[in-house]
Amino acid sequence: MDKIFFKTAAELSDLLDKGEISSVELTKSVINRTKSVDDTIGAFLAYDEKKTLAEAEASDKRRREGNKLSDLDGIPVGIKDLIAEKGQQLTCGSKILENFVSPYDATVIERLKDAGCVLWGRLNMDEFAMGSSNENSAYKPVYNPWNIQCVPGGSSGGSAAAVAAGETILALGSDTGGSIRQPSSFCGICGLKPSYGAVSRYGLVAFASSLDQIGPMGRSVKDLALLLQVIAGADAKDSSSFPIDKVNYVAELDKRGTRKNIGVPVEYFQDGLDPEVKQAVQDAIKFYRENGHNIVEMSLPMNKYAMAVYYIIATAEASSNLARFDGVRYGRRSPNATNAIDMYFKSREEGFGEEVKRRIMLGTYVLSSENFDSYYRRAQKVRTLIRNDFMRVFESVDAIITPVSPTVAFERGKKNFDPLEMYLCDIYTISVNLAGICGISVPCGFSSKKLPIGMQILGKPFRENEILSLAHEFEQAHDYSSQHPDI
Ligand code: GLN
Repeated sequence: MDKIFFKTAAELSDLLDKGEISSVELTKSVINRTKSVDDTIGAFLAYDEKKTLAEAEASDKRRREGNKLSDLDGIPVGIKDLIAEKGQQLTCGSKILENFVSPYDATVIERLKDAGCVLWGRLNMDEFAMGSSNENSAYKPVYNPWNIQCVPGGSSGGSAAAVAAGETILALGSDTGGSIRQPSSFCGICGLKPSYGAVSRYGLVAFASSLDQIGPMGRSVKDLALLLQVIAGADAKDSSSFPIDKVNYVAELDKRGTRKNIGVPVEYFQDGLDPEVKQAVQDAIKFYRENGHNIVEMSLPMNKYAMAVYYIIATAEASSNLARFDGVRYGRRSPNATNAIDMYFKSREEGFGEEVKRRIMLGTYVLSSENFDSYYRRAQKVRTLIRNDFMRVFESVDAIITPVSPTVAFERGKKNFDPLEMYLCDIYTISVNLAGICGISVPCGFSSKKLPIGMQILGKPFRENEILSLAHEFEQAHDYSSQHPDI
């Protein structure tokens, strides 16, 4: 069979059911593909071929015996290297966790195992998920499979590039301010940030705990639904996970018939938006209008504060969360220290990269007693206003369409010397995390230089089914998701 590694999980699941391929064949195809392209792409930080093939063999055995565990039984899923898988490295793209091996499974990993998925490799990322270009990985950068002069986006750039290049079928990423959606859009794949609390964070190394969510990445909207089906749902080990009713995301994809009210926020189409991205998203909006949906122009005036609020709250939480990496309990301990205090300082000095240190310092500053009220407390209040803005709009619309990022993938080295420029990549995605709602990125076009463009569809909390269904409707009528890079 030709290029099995470029098929969707849904197609492969059918082929596995019919016995036309085996999981071992599929997994080998993905492994060989990785070996042939990953020197160029850099999506993987590590993989364990033997372990992965053993999982594929076990899946084939189950299918032979009629004991398939789920529709994803036997399908390879790559894991961003900040989600704990027992016995595998867990570096978070940082030198401070070099050689750290996870002693336990994250809840999402347990669920993937229970569904029979084949866990394939540890995917590259910006250090501790801080970044938008994957140039902050302490190990190596990731290159965009559509044009290796360009970045893949970040921080789940390894996950996005691996899916786009056929090095895995599905992947898990994490999204604190856009880290699933922005790289998905840069690499021409689909990615979903679930509502806060929809997916357990147990075993996800925390960056900003009130914003972080794990989510699915894949080559079609249906693939996201299949993967979300497996990982979503409350978890006793994560008190912030929410007991939502079990939804059949896959069955809901084709539930149409109702005309939806779709909001288009004026603020998201103003200065700084690349004209080609604007055009592609506007064409997508036109598609929905022509297909009977009601398009409503609306406003999210608080969005202009999202960037400032995010860089106070996210850095504050990061400075607390990252305090645990002290050279005593986890990871790297400096060999150059002369006493205990020196050991804390040197382990952190040598172990963390520049961007991580910048965030820790910012976060410590906004939490300090003299600055707490004017920064942190005020940011929390504005966060509520941002959420209220969305909730007000969601009283009259079912979903909101925006661009994912102001530009397509940019050239390597272009923004990593200017943190503010880099932060602006997430101008359309971060408010979604601050509000705790769900958002999907789905391919909606290509630039004149053949770089993918993504649109973002936002939904009410725990209405992933609605945005998946709208994205699916668009995808069925276009062929953007089914195109692959020439690598
Ligand atoms: N790019 C944003 C940041 O650097 C978002 C990161 C994320 O979602 N993990 O913080």
